Amino acid sequence: MTESRSFDQIAAELRSCRLCRDAPQFLPGLPHEPRPIVQGSASSRLCIASQAPGTQAHRSGIPFHDASGRRLRAWLGLTEAEFYDRMRVAIIPMGACFPGQDAKGGDLPPRRECATIWRSPLMNALPKLELVLLIGRYAQMWHLGPAGTGGLTRTMMQWREFLSAPVRPRILPLPHPSWRNNVWLRQNPWFETDVLPALRSEVRAIMTSGKTETAL
Ligand code: SF4
Repeated sequence: MTESRSFDQIAAELRSCRLCRDAPQFLPGLPHEPRPIVQGSASSRLCIASQAPGTQAHRSGIPFHDASGRRLRAWLGLTEAEFYDRMRVAIIPMGACFPGQDAKGGDLPPRRECATIWRSPLMNALPKLELVLLIGRYAQMWHLGPAGTGGLTRTMMQWREFLSAPVRPRILPLPHPSWRNNVWLRQNPWFETDVLPALRSEVRAIMTSGKTETAL
Protein backbone atom coordinates (compact mmCIF):
# COMPACT_ATOMS: atom_id res chain seq x y z
CA MET A 1 0.00 0.00 0.00
CA THR A 2 1.34 3.45 -0.91
CA GLU A 3 2.08 5.73 2.06
CA SER A 4 0.08 8.94 1.64
CA ARG A 5 0.69 10.56 5.02
CA SER A 6 3.26 13.33 5.29
CA PHE A 7 6.28 13.12 7.56
CA ASP A 8 4.66 15.61 9.92
CA GLN A 9 1.49 13.51 10.15
CA ILE A 10 3.41 10.31 10.86
CA ALA A 11 5.66 12.05 13.39
CA ALA A 12 2.60 13.47 15.18
CA GLU A 13 1.08 9.99 15.40
CA LEU A 14 4.37 8.57 16.65
CA ARG A 15 4.60 11.21 19.36
CA SER A 16 1.28 10.04 20.78
CA CYS A 17 2.24 6.35 20.61
CA ARG A 18 2.17 4.48 23.97
CA LEU A 19 2.31 0.96 22.54
CA CYS A 20 5.33 -0.27 24.48
CA ARG A 21 3.69 0.65 27.77
CA ASP A 22 0.06 -0.24 27.04
CA ALA A 23 0.27 -3.19 24.64
CA PRO A 24 3.90 -4.29 24.30
CA GLN A 25 4.64 -6.94 21.71
CA PHE A 26 7.86 -7.87 23.50
CA LEU A 27 7.89 -8.29 27.28
CA PRO A 28 8.48 -6.70 29.64
CA GLY A 29 6.68 -3.52 28.61
CA LEU A 30 8.01 -0.06 29.27
CA PRO A 31 7.70 0.69 33.00
CA HIS A 32 7.67 4.45 32.42
CA GLU A 33 5.64 6.95 30.43
CA PRO A 34 6.90 6.80 26.83
CA ARG A 35 8.26 10.02 25.38
CA PRO A 36 8.78 9.44 21.66
CA ILE A 37 11.48 11.65 20.14
CA VAL A 38 11.93 12.18 16.43
CA GLN A 39 13.06 15.10 14.25
CA GLY A 40 12.66 15.81 10.57
CA SER A 41 10.55 17.22 7.76
CA ALA A 42 9.74 16.31 4.19
CA SER A 43 12.64 18.55 3.10
CA SER A 44 15.32 16.86 5.28
CA ARG A 45 18.39 15.85 3.26
CA LEU A 46 20.54 14.32 5.96
CA CYS A 47 19.23 11.55 8.24
CA ILE A 48 20.82 10.48 11.47
CA ALA A 49 19.58 6.93 12.00
CA SER A 50 20.28 6.61 15.69
CA GLN A 51 19.66 4.10 18.44
CA ALA A 52 17.24 5.29 21.15
CA PRO A 53 17.01 8.23 23.57
CA GLY A 54 19.03 7.93 26.80
CA THR A 55 18.05 9.24 30.20
CA GLN A 56 19.02 12.83 29.38
CA ALA A 57 17.04 12.95 26.12
CA HIS A 58 14.11 11.29 27.91
CA ARG A 59 14.13 14.11 30.46
CA SER A 60 14.66 16.99 28.03
CA GLY A 61 12.93 15.69 24.92
CA ILE A 62 15.99 16.77 22.88
CA PRO A 63 18.07 14.08 21.14
CA PHE A 64 21.87 14.18 21.40
CA HIS A 65 21.92 17.14 23.78
CA ASP A 66 24.79 15.60 25.71
CA ALA A 67 28.45 14.61 25.40
CA SER A 68 27.65 12.07 22.66
CA GLY A 69 25.83 14.77 20.74
CA ARG A 70 28.75 17.18 21.05
CA ARG A 71 31.09 14.53 19.69
CA LEU A 72 28.69 13.66 16.87
CA ARG A 73 28.34 17.33 15.87
CA ALA A 74 32.14 17.64 15.87
CA TRP A 75 32.38 14.57 13.64
CA LEU A 76 29.82 16.07 11.25
CA GLY A 77 31.19 19.61 11.39
CA LEU A 78 27.73 20.94 12.32
CA THR A 79 26.75 23.65 14.74
CA GLU A 80 23.89 23.00 17.18
CA ALA A 81 21.63 25.25 15.11
CA GLU A 82 22.37 23.23 11.96
CA PHE A 83 22.04 19.88 13.73
CA TYR A 84 18.61 20.74 15.12
CA ASP A 85 17.35 22.29 11.87
CA ARG A 86 14.62 19.79 11.06
CA MET A 87 14.17 21.27 7.60
CA ARG A 88 17.59 19.88 6.72
CA VAL A 89 18.38 17.19 9.31
CA ALA A 90 16.20 14.26 10.34
CA ILE A 91 16.96 12.27 13.47
CA ILE A 92 15.16 8.93 13.31
CA PRO A 93 16.08 6.56 16.15
CA MET A 94 15.53 2.82 15.92
CA GLY A 95 13.44 3.17 19.07
CA ALA A 96 11.82 6.56 19.61
CA CYS A 97 11.43 6.15 23.40
CA PHE A 98 13.95 5.67 26.18
CA PRO A 99 13.95 1.87 26.58
CA GLY A 100 15.02 1.79 30.26
CA GLN A 101 18.19 0.36 31.76
CA ASP A 102 19.55 -3.02 32.74
CA ALA A 103 20.75 -4.00 36.22
CA LYS A 104 24.20 -2.52 35.51
CA GLY A 105 22.80 0.85 34.47
CA GLY A 106 23.37 0.34 30.74
CA ASP A 107 20.63 1.40 28.32
CA LEU A 108 18.49 -1.45 27.04
CA PRO A 109 18.26 -2.05 23.28
CA PRO A 110 15.76 0.04 21.31
CA ARG A 111 12.20 -1.27 21.60
CA ARG A 112 11.70 -3.68 18.72
CA GLU A 113 8.07 -2.63 18.25
CA CYS A 114 9.19 0.78 17.09
CA ALA A 115 11.10 -0.15 13.94
CA THR A 116 8.39 -2.65 12.99
CA ILE A 117 5.66 -0.06 13.08
CA TRP A 118 7.20 3.33 12.46
CA ARG A 119 10.50 3.05 10.62
CA SER A 120 9.43 2.38 7.05
CA PRO A 121 6.62 4.98 7.07
CA LEU A 122 8.99 7.61 8.48
CA MET A 123 11.82 6.83 6.07
CA ASN A 124 9.42 6.72 3.10
CA ALA A 125 8.15 10.19 4.03
CA LEU A 126 11.65 11.70 3.60
CA PRO A 127 11.88 11.95 -0.20
CA LYS A 128 14.75 14.46 -0.29
CA LEU A 129 17.22 12.39 1.71
CA GLU A 130 20.70 12.29 0.24
CA LEU A 131 22.62 10.59 3.03
CA VAL A 132 21.65 8.33 5.93
CA LEU A 133 24.18 7.99 8.75
CA LEU A 134 23.81 4.67 10.52
CA ILE A 135 24.78 5.28 14.14
CA GLY A 136 25.47 2.02 15.93
CA ARG A 137 24.65 -1.60 15.28
CA TYR A 138 20.84 -1.55 15.49
CA ALA A 139 20.56 1.00 12.70
CA GLN A 140 23.27 -0.80 10.73
CA MET A 141 21.48 -4.14 11.00
CA TRP A 142 18.13 -2.67 9.92
CA HIS A 143 19.42 -0.60 7.00
CA LEU A 144 22.23 -2.87 5.77
CA GLY A 145 20.73 -6.30 6.47
CA PRO A 146 23.36 -9.09 6.55
CA ALA A 147 26.11 -6.59 5.58
CA GLY A 148 25.54 -4.78 8.87
CA THR A 149 25.78 -7.77 11.17
CA GLY A 150 29.54 -8.44 11.07
CA GLY A 151 30.49 -6.17 13.97
CA LEU A 152 31.52 -2.53 14.08
CA THR A 153 35.09 -2.86 12.76
CA ARG A 154 34.12 -5.05 9.83
CA THR A 155 31.20 -2.84 8.92
CA MET A 156 33.22 0.36 9.23
CA MET A 157 36.08 -1.00 7.13
CA GLN A 158 33.64 -1.11 4.20
CA TRP A 159 32.71 2.56 4.58
CA ARG A 160 33.98 3.56 1.15
CA GLU A 161 31.95 0.83 -0.56
CA PHE A 162 28.79 1.81 1.30
CA LEU A 163 29.26 5.50 0.57
CA SER A 164 29.96 5.00 -3.14
CA ALA A 165 27.16 2.48 -3.76
CA PRO A 166 24.75 3.71 -6.48
CA VAL A 167 21.72 4.03 -4.21
CA ARG A 168 19.56 6.96 -3.15
CA PRO A 169 19.82 7.96 -0.38
CA ARG A 170 23.43 6.97 0.10
CA ILE A 171 24.43 5.30 3.35
CA LEU A 172 27.36 5.60 5.71
CA PRO A 173 27.74 3.58 8.92
CA LEU A 174 29.30 5.26 11.95
CA PRO A 175 30.20 4.09 15.44
CA HIS A 176 28.01 5.46 18.23
CA PRO A 177 29.69 8.63 19.55
CA SER A 178 29.32 7.43 23.14
CA TRP A 179 32.35 7.30 25.43
CA ARG A 180 31.78 3.53 25.39
CA ASN A 181 33.46 3.52 21.96
CA ASN A 182 36.58 5.42 23.10
CA VAL A 183 38.68 2.25 23.01
CA TRP A 184 37.47 1.40 19.51
CA LEU A 185 38.25 4.94 18.35
CA ARG A 186 41.77 4.73 19.80
CA GLN A 187 42.34 1.35 18.18
CA ASN A 188 41.11 2.52 14.78
CA PRO A 189 42.78 5.89 14.10
CA TRP A 190 41.86 5.64 10.38
CA PHE A 191 38.32 6.56 11.42
CA GLU A 192 39.55 10.03 12.36
CA THR A 193 42.08 10.45 9.57
CA ASP A 194 40.08 8.93 6.68
CA VAL A 195 36.38 8.72 7.49
CA LEU A 196 35.80 12.01 9.29
CA PRO A 197 37.19 14.32 6.56
CA ALA A 198 35.06 12.53 3.94
CA LEU A 199 32.04 12.67 6.24
CA ARG A 200 32.41 16.41 6.89
CA SER A 201 32.81 17.13 3.22
CA GLU A 202 29.64 15.16 2.35
CA VAL A 203 27.63 16.76 5.15
CA ARG A 204 28.74 20.29 4.27
CA ALA A 205 27.74 19.79 0.62
CA ILE A 206 24.35 18.45 1.65
CA MET A 207 23.70 21.23 4.15
CA THR A 208 24.65 23.87 1.60
CA SER A 209 22.48 22.43 -1.16
CA GLY A 210 19.60 22.05 1.30
CA LYS A 211 19.97 25.70 2.33
CA THR A 212 19.84 26.82 -1.27
CA GLU A 213 16.69 24.83 -2.01
CA THR A 214 14.74 25.69 1.15
CA ALA A 215 15.59 29.36 0.62
CA LEU A 216 13.98 29.35 -2.83
S1 SF4 B 1 9.26 3.05 21.43
FE1 SF4 B 1 8.13 3.46 19.53
S2 SF4 B 1 6.52 1.85 19.45
FE2 SF4 B 1 7.28 1.98 21.59
S3 SF4 B 1 5.91 3.44 22.62
FE3 SF4 B 1 7.69 4.59 21.87
S4 SF4 B 1 7.02 5.37 19.86
FE4 SF4 B 1 5.63 3.67 20.41
